[in-house]
Amino acid sequence: MSACDLCGGTHHDLIFTGHDRLFGIAGEFPLVRCQDCGLVFVNPRPSFEEMGRFYPQDDYDLYNKAAGLKDRGMDELGRLLGPRKGRIDKYRDHGRLLDIGFGDGSFLYFMRECGWDVAGVDYNQKMVELVRDELGIDAVTGQLEDAKYPDGAFDVVTLWGVLEHVQSPRRTIEEISRITGDGALLVIYTQNAASPEARWLGKDWFIYEVPRHLYSFTPDSLAKLLAQAGFCVAETVFETPLYYCQMNWQYFKERRLGRRNDVIHNPTLVDRLVTKLLSFYRRAVNGGPRSSAMTVYAVKRESCIPGDAGDGTKAAVIAGGTGGSTTAAPGTGETAAGASATETRGNGEHGADQ
Ligand SMILES: [Zn+2]
Repeated sequence: MSACDLCGGTHHDLIFTGHDRLFGIAGEFPLVRCQDCGLVFVNPRPSFEEMGRFYPQDDYDLYNKAAGLKDRGMDELGRLLGPRKGRIDKYRDHGRLLDIGFGDGSFLYFMRECGWDVAGVDYNQKMVELVRDELGIDAVTGQLEDAKYPDGAFDVVTLWGVLEHVQSPRRTIEEISRITGDGALLVIYTQNAASPEARWLGKDWFIYEVPRHLYSFTPDSLAKLLAQAGFCVAETVFETPLYYCQMNWQYFKERRLGRRNDVIHNPTLVDRLVTKLLSFYRRAVNGGPRSSAMTVYAVKRESCIPGDAGDGTKAAVIAGGTGGSTTAAPGTGETAAGASATETRGNGEHGADQ
């Protein structure tokens, strides 16, 4: 059994024992919640080497996307990635940016074309070679620690659907703290385990995604993790991508009703009807803290305001920072879901995405 990565606690409650539902690769994985801090994680945790077989490296779709970036044009990329850039610009509008787990490289490419000095690290060697050789982007293969970036090298670090995949989020955030300077911005997009869907659906909550998602955060547990390494949450943007709702329905009906088909690409009449109903549900929760995904914007400071740093949705930053706020992002759901195809390590969601 593994101790909790966030608080070191050894007492947890079993949520369920699950398996890989995306690719059907063999193995049973208990998912637990820490009794002390609430962090949700796969326990025992498979090693980095053991996890390799859950990330097929020959992802031609991903490869083609990266190879076609130059032809896509900035207008099209701007529609997809502009909202992300816009939010980052509120904190920093130029400098050196690192994207961890860059997937198809689209975000790095877009930001570079917008004038940013960019670098990336990703587990998928083929993608790293393509992004480096074809797009001329500074890219490194492996985990973040393998890149051995110098102290204080970056102004902005982004992880789009990546932190839930890493072996130790605590070590990853500590390393990010080392390679960033004071006032640096850290941006993390991940699922929200505090959403009611997680409770209602349990094993069928698509985005638990065991075993590739080794961790599931709530706004609270993520803020605690960040505060330990000197990052204060300035803003949390919540969203419920319709794609998540559709995949939830697919998993629900597969396991509980014994009906199996691709709800997104090959929907039945019932699937279309359910999707319509789910889109009403989505509209009701989208943008609020009950949403199924969140993007956290955190700023590196000497200290966060005492007593506030532990609360992801209320945390504020000291001295000249943006006041703490919780922001809705209506209408950005699909955009972010599409862009979350840029997952690390051959990316978990990507196989079923788009
Ligand atoms: Zn814990």
